Amino acid sequence: MDFAQLAAQADTLIEALPYIQRFRGQTFVIKYGGAAMEEPDLIPLVLRDIVFLEAVGINPVIVHGGGKAITRRLKEKGVAARFVAGLRVTDAETVDVVDEVLSSVINPEIAGGINRFGGRARSFNGRSVFRTRKAPPIHHEGAEVDLGFVGDVLGCQVLQVIKAVQEEVVPVISPLGEDDAHQAYNINADVAAAEMAIALEASKIIYLSDVNGILRDPKDPSSRIPSLNPDGVAALKADGTVSGGMLPKVDSCLKALDHGIEKVHLIDGRIPHALLLELFTDKGIGTEIVRG
Ligand code: ADP
Ligand code: MG
Repeated sequence: MDFAQLAAQADTLIEALPYIQRFRGQTFVIKYGGAAMEEPDLIPLVLRDIVFLEAVGINPVIVHGGGKAITRRLKEKGVAARFVAGLRVTDAETVDVVDEVLSSVINPEIAGGINRFGGRARSFNGRSVFRTRKAPPIHHEGAEVDLGFVGDVLGCQVLQVIKAVQEEVVPVISPLGEDDAHQAYNINADVAAAEMAIALEASKIIYLSDVNGILRDPKDPSSRIPSLNPDGVAALKADGTVSGGMLPKVDSCLKALDHGIEKVHLIDGRIPHALLLELFTDKGIGTEIVRG
């Protein structure tokens, strides 16, 4: 390798300097879901990026999903998965499967990966963090749909999460909650991430998903909308551009922005190093939603 090549490598590091200076000490909540969380080739890339963020003084807090693994486990048990308006209809058997898969498979895999890459992670079952109550039925296509054990978040017990952050440990939190009677509820992970960000007064939420942002035409990846404000999001909801799994994402984004989060990023976790590219370069690779 000659000096020009080495200098180019150093330039890459220096390009990130103003971002690192700005972001040091800030808390970023990362919603980890989709293919980035499922594909063996992608997982190390995402987890190493998260270790990098921690190493440069940013406080990443992970709230993970579990959609596809849960659906697979339910299928093995002969239970069909059903989604209405992007939310999983959750009966008593399903909520047990959700808890089991998240606590025994997904969460330890993420925490273990962070530890393997030289970071430090601490697992949190969301049941010890999110106080929930049963979500009311939703109106969908002219009918009332009872979602079963799907929880609305009433509050977050964040003391232990904050303690981890202060100890430079990355909290890894599952999207579950409990009511006062210790009944478990499934929480949409996008919603859980936004509630956590609000409770921690985070500056950003980053949603890693299987789509490269909010699309003008959901079937056309080249129709990505790079930047939106809440009015723009409302218009896309009203005309039906945003639907399905994107609904809880944008709704929770809007709530978070309303509660002081500065910026929300929706990025494609299938792109290698999506987190570093989005955060440390001028060119955004997904959709950002900002206030005003
Ligand atoms: P995750 O596991 O990351 O929460 P979801 O499947 O719940 O992913 O939500 C993302 C999905 O939302 C996309 O894969 C896409 O099918 C759907 N979607 C609906 N409307 C849009 C839109 N306008 N732009 C992008 N994705 C959309
Ligand atoms: Mg989803």
